[in-house]
Amino acid sequence: MNIALIAHDAKKELMVQFCIAYCGVLSRHNLCATGTTGKLVSEATGLSIFKFLSGSQGGSQQIASRIACNEIDLLLFFRDPLTQKPNEPDQASLLRLCDVHNIPVATNIATAEALIHALERGDLDWRNIVNPKR
Ligand code: PGA
Repeated sequence: MNIALIAHDAKKELMVQFCIAYCGVLSRHNLCATGTTGKLVSEATGLSIFKFLSGSQGGSQQIASRIACNEIDLLLFFRDPLTQKPNEPDQASLLRLCDVHNIPVATNIATAEALIHALERGDLDWRNIVNPKR
């Protein structure tokens, strides 16, 4: 499955710790991320991650376009709900596209853990039926 990772600055360390904890399961999938998130996670875990542009430079829009083409199966987007971001409209549109295309998405670690366990159990395998290319 193709998994996309995005973390706001205040949540990047949490994303790194999450990916260290679930490195085993994540390593069995194709990972992509916005620039800085991808760099930090790959440095900390050794996971191979395709890095889009940094979020502020359009990276979340690049991920949104992959979602629109049904090329992402799961989005883990650790948001900082306490600080306003200049690229908030891009990120609202990203979440909207997840709803349009029925992409499982977690915006906090509690949901991310539930989804990663679902991924491990094979509960998200229906995505392979939706998109048999993988
Ligand atoms: P980044 O982008 O991983 O490049 O920092 C995420 C964000 O928009 O904060």
